[in-house]
Amino acid sequence: MTRAGQWPPVPEALPAPIVDNHCHLEYPAGDEPRSVERRLEDAAAAGVTRVVQVGCEVDSAIWTADAVTRFPQMLGGVAIHPNEAAVLAAAGTYDEAFATIADLARGERIRVVSETGLDYFRTGPEGRDAQVAAFRDHIALAKELDLPLQIHDRDAHADVVEVLDRDGAPERTVFHCFSGDAGLARLAAQRGWYLSFAGTVTFKNAGALRAALAVTPLDHVLVETDSPFLTAHPHRGTPNHPALAALTARTVADVLEADLRVVCETVSATSESLYGPW
Ligand SMILES: [Zn+2]
Repeated sequence: MTRAGQWPPVPEALPAPIVDNHCHLEYPAGDEPRSVERRLEDAAAAGVTRVVQVGCEVDSAIWTADAVTRFPQMLGGVAIHPNEAAVLAAAGTYDEAFATIADLARGERIRVVSETGLDYFRTGPEGRDAQVAAFRDHIALAKELDLPLQIHDRDAHADVVEVLDRDGAPERTVFHCFSGDAGLARLAAQRGWYLSFAGTVTFKNAGALRAALAVTPLDHVLVETDSPFLTAHPHRGTPNHPALAALTARTVADVLEADLRVVCETVSATSESLYGPW
């Protein structure tokens, strides 16, 4: 068992390369912070050869726009996170922040608007109008730039779907760190939306999430770490890193009763079809 604060080991290599569809490498995690280079090397050793780095407030979006020019295995996403959107709106600085994001989103290696949506867990009812307004801005931006959209949906499933249906979801819409049940997974499959599963799907108590995965077509399944958060079983509570997407890929293969190599190849192909070539 790895101690809290200690980096979990690099998992056994996958039989074919995959993509970590969502991570935050600007955060220095762990007792001994590890460089971005080291985390990307470890990821490649586990078969996670490419990542989508997400900067979802202005400073981290600027960091992301620079990092994607330095690391060939990294593409980027930028947005104002829904919780941040509520804070900025209350302070009167949201419009300026969103304008910066819209500008950065035009970068050649920024390939997704991420992450946006609704979060009713951290933000109370007083912030909901601001979150909905920001969500709609990001939907419009993704469509304008013909980029995919990665959605953050925490305790807000019905309202997220309602906003997407009302405004019209971008053609390539991804639920990042999917947390819904089989019913929402079926609805997403009907709409052609993609579900990205994080380490949470490996947790012992995540039966409902695995049931959602079980009804999702393999070609609409993605994997991610959301690192440094949400570390997969059996390393919960320790800092997460992109290599651990390999553990989630193995769980996907188990739940879908699919060949692990086929899962990896499909996840890779779907990621490339969404974000373009690295
Ligand atoms: Zn995230």
